[in-house]
Amino acid sequence: MRQSRVYITEPIPMYDKMVRLLRSSGVEVEVSKVFHEYVPEDKLLEFDGVIVADSKIPTEPIKRTERLKIIQKFGVGVDNIPVELCKSRSVYVCNIPGINSLDVAEFTLAAILSILHRIRERDRMARKAKWSDRPKVLSERLTGKVVGIIGFGRIGRQVAMLLKPFKVRIVVYDPYVSEEVVRESGVERVGELDQLLEISDVVTLHVPLTGETRHMIGWRELNMMKRSAILVNTSRGAIIDEEALYKAVKSGRLKTAHIDVWSLEPVPRDNPMLKIRKVQLSLHQASWSVNFFTEAAEFCVENILKAFRGFKPLNVVWESI
Ligand code: NAD
Repeated sequence: MRQSRVYITEPIPMYDKMVRLLRSSGVEVEVSKVFHEYVPEDKLLEFDGVIVADSKIPTEPIKRTERLKIIQKFGVGVDNIPVELCKSRSVYVCNIPGINSLDVAEFTLAAILSILHRIRERDRMARKAKWSDRPKVLSERLTGKVVGIIGFGRIGRQVAMLLKPFKVRIVVYDPYVSEEVVRESGVERVGELDQLLEISDVVTLHVPLTGETRHMIGWRELNMMKRSAILVNTSRGAIIDEEALYKAVKSGRLKTAHIDVWSLEPVPRDNPMLKIRKVQLSLHQASWSVNFFTEAAEFCVENILKAFRGFKPLNVVWESI
């Protein structure tokens, strides 16, 4: 019998675990050590399974492939995969929803606390041993503040759960989530985004990028927020008008923000936001924990092996869209 082959399209952190697990099941594995914007065509023709994170899957080879059985997304969003075309060619497309929700939620809380407790400034001051500067860097408590959560799905709800011990007032804006979910979570719902923006001390975004959410936070919305407010974005860069945010923070209209996701990724070095010291930044890594990569690696391998053994894999995405 022909040996099954899996191609890992990019150097995903801890990919060696997947390689080990697949090889121990008799599967041949090849890993791309560089990031290709598009997965090379021949790989989609010569392999039985593909594990992909952010590289794009081109359409042409999918139209011709006879061998490919499964494309396993190492993550949630499948906007880099031509799902409908794969479906028509009987190539499974699977993802792993929810597996990194807690990581993103913990990161969000860490970002908020780090800003309020001025961890970065205090670290810088300590390295210079500037003891007499201590009165210049005072923190603020999270307890007692109003936290606005936009998008109350898996991550938004985890954020609310983690915030519970802080005795904050949590307000959520999500027109699509049921009354029951809101009630069970013990949060307050607002009917209008503007209402949330006006009353919140911290605003955190947890919506998917859609036609409706693109630039959901622009100059108008930023001007509705309290001057002392903090904005955290771990969802998708294009949900905020980045230029407007730059202007708002630079001018002091908005106190500060944590930006994890960018309108253009990889973020170009000349993005002006990188120069503003008072914003806290990261490079789309809110979910990048050892725990996530370990669990996701195990899931991807198990799911691929399932498909190779003739069973239906889990989380076939076209069944839920
Ligand atoms: P989810 O689908 O469980 O929840 C999204 C919520 O947003 C849903 O409840 C939905 O009703 C709500 N929503 C949709 N349109 C809305 C709108 N116009 N206004 C208000 N609410 C709206 O998704 P999730 O698992 O919670 O993830 C949220 C987003 O986080 C993902 O779409 C992804 O873009 C992002 N994400 C980022 C990272 C990272 O590393 N930074 C990791 C995972 C996910």
